Amino acid sequence: MLDTVFFNADVVTVNPGFEVFRPGRVGVRSGRIVSVGPDAPGTPLPRARESVDVGGGVLMPGLVNAHTHLPMVLFRGLADDLPLADWLNDHIFPAERRHMTAGTVRTAARLACAELLLSGTTTCCDGYFHESAVAEAVLEAGIRGVLGQGVIDAPAPGVPDPAKAVETAAGFVDDWQGRNARVSPSIFCHSPYTCSETTLRRAKAAARERGVRFQIHVSETRSEVERSRAENGATPVGYLERLGLLDPETLVVHGVWLTGEDIRTLSDRGVPVVHCPESNMKLASGIAPVTALRAAGVTVALGTDGAASNNDQDLFREMDTAAKLHKAATGDPTALDARTVVRMATIEGARAVGLGEEVGSIEIGKGADLVTLAPLLPSAVPNHHPASLVVYSVDGGAVRDVMVAGRFRIREGRPCHMDLEEAMADARRAATDIDDTGGRS
Ligand SMILES: [Zn+2]
Repeated sequence: MLDTVFFNADVVTVNPGFEVFRPGRVGVRSGRIVSVGPDAPGTPLPRARESVDVGGGVLMPGLVNAHTHLPMVLFRGLADDLPLADWLNDHIFPAERRHMTAGTVRTAARLACAELLLSGTTTCCDGYFHESAVAEAVLEAGIRGVLGQGVIDAPAPGVPDPAKAVETAAGFVDDWQGRNARVSPSIFCHSPYTCSETTLRRAKAAARERGVRFQIHVSETRSEVERSRAENGATPVGYLERLGLLDPETLVVHGVWLTGEDIRTLSDRGVPVVHCPESNMKLASGIAPVTALRAAGVTVALGTDGAASNNDQDLFREMDTAAKLHKAATGDPTALDARTVVRMATIEGARAVGLGEEVGSIEIGKGADLVTLAPLLPSAVPNHHPASLVVYSVDGGAVRDVMVAGRFRIREGRPCHMDLEEAMADARRAATDIDDTGGRS
């Protein structure tokens, strides 16, 4: 007997052949996908505790947001329309130092998890401070998280002494490793320009010893690359390569200003890259060479980045942006077709964050992280090609049901286990004394 069977669905499997069953069925037992295939007319449904009629809507793998900073939802709309250096140094860093306690981080992360789940994301890869508070919010919300405790050579929330940053991050990993299948701890170095060579080496060594992901923002702006060439005699990628930090467990975020040699290095080392098009556009950082990276065999995932630079956490909108941006950038309308972008937001994201065997596609044996879309929205009718509908026609508002590891977290567009009104009221309260002077007043 199954726990749940979904039927009468357009099942977008994102398996290696990108099979789509129209209509299709998916069976779930003990948190895992146990069957997937066509929903042939007249064939009786298997016995299940719950049978969900998707009504002809899309059923797809839960999305993987491969780069975000969940607690930054508190800074949503605080400091828009600024260059990255001013935004970060004059607004975000001061506001973080002043306002981000373990309590506000947890409150903010809870709101962010609600936003993610409601818009179809079932796995997020986060990097922030007070990461234990993020982990608690992730567990409570029922989402999956690859969660990186932040490392930076400056006083940070919860880490007033930068000399303790690596030790704090290692301690976070030790605390959370093996504790819950939905939380994968990780270490997040802010960037090669805010962390010294020693800090970078020590942080990567701590991640390697523990077998966890090492996340880092790399080559986000042109000025970062110029500074790296002047100070280190190499591009940021060349510098990290020289330090021995590049391997398949290092997650390079942004990679906007990459040279041909950088791309070859990332490919040779098997380093995945997270593309965050809306953040890169909003901060005018530039356009990452995604088509060249993919052509070189690099795994490219998709991320929203934090809400202060996006300003939402909706990966459906990010898919739409990514697909269109690279057509405009290359002058080639075949660049990043809808299927490719769906792969980036699901299976490639899962691989990038180290969960490719567990989630990211609808295949037998994988964790049951599933999303259904409402069939009867004006923007969802008609549905000639499900991947096209997913990328170009709808946004996260079309998400109807969300299951993580076999358990419903959203039903009919509402959270099942969270008081959403309370989460929003708490976050609004926590944000009341944050102002756009970045806390310098
Ligand atoms: Zn970021």
